[in-house]
Amino acid sequence: MRTDPYAVSAGEGVASRRWLRLADNRAFGKLPPRMATAQQLLQTFDGLLQPENFKDYGPNGLQVEGSDEVQCIVSGVTASRALIEAAVQARAQAIFVHHGLFWRGQDGRVTGWMKQRLALLLKHDINLFAYHLPLDAHPELGNNAQLGLKLGLEATARFGEQALGFLGRRRGGGSFASAQELAAHLEINLGRHATWVEGAPRQIDKIAWCTGGAQGYFESAIAAGADAFITGEISEPQAHYARECGVAFLACGHHASERYGAPAVAGHVAAELGIQHCFIDIENPA
Ligand SMILES: [Zn+2]
Repeated sequence: MRTDPYAVSAGEGVASRRWLRLADNRAFGKLPPRMATAQQLLQTFDGLLQPENFKDYGPNGLQVEGSDEVQCIVSGVTASRALIEAAVQARAQAIFVHHGLFWRGQDGRVTGWMKQRLALLLKHDINLFAYHLPLDAHPELGNNAQLGLKLGLEATARFGEQALGFLGRRRGGGSFASAQELAAHLEINLGRHATWVEGAPRQIDKIAWCTGGAQGYFESAIAAGADAFITGEISEPQAHYARECGVAFLACGHHASERYGAPAVAGHVAAELGIQHCFIDIENPA
């Protein structure tokens, strides 16, 4: 997904050669550098995503402080070591992700994978910005809004805890003849296998969705009158709820459903501040 004029690589896999060449050119002064401060980025992200309005599982905003000056920001789904290494290669001074480093319930020790990720960020002076639920929720640029766009769905209402769930129908009208047809639609558009339970043989008009590990929203989706619910993951109970309530449940992958919000938000903010942005998708079977 390309949402900003400065994104020169928005595809899958690691940063493209073309992008790195452009970064090189900037580094050698062949193109005028455009720059924002880390504080400007933080204020712009906070203004857009309003993290103060959410109860979340970890801190939203600047999780790790790096260089004060940012010319290039990399977005990705998760602050994994692979993403941080790719950002180092791309000579980025900031990373924007959905899944940051710190979560409620962690024991707080900086050992193993945590030590490795933090060491890389600190060594290369890279800012880590992470927004979890506020990124899911943004009405135009968030994960749910962007997944809807990708799937040709139009939201007309919100549902569930903190109004994170989206409820709507096919953009431009029309319906899916069956859960199987909707599952095939997901697989074509996301390039991933979908796990699904039909519930009952029926036409699908009203569709609810919530990206990532939102299988716990299925009951709220049923209560909201959905014919089908789309999320990233399935757990054991959802198959039974689907069959007993006659509502289709479709899991299309946690990572697969959350690849679209981070580049949309980071791209939008980068364009606003006039800095470079690229999305780097670290392949994940989930
Ligand atoms: Zn997630």
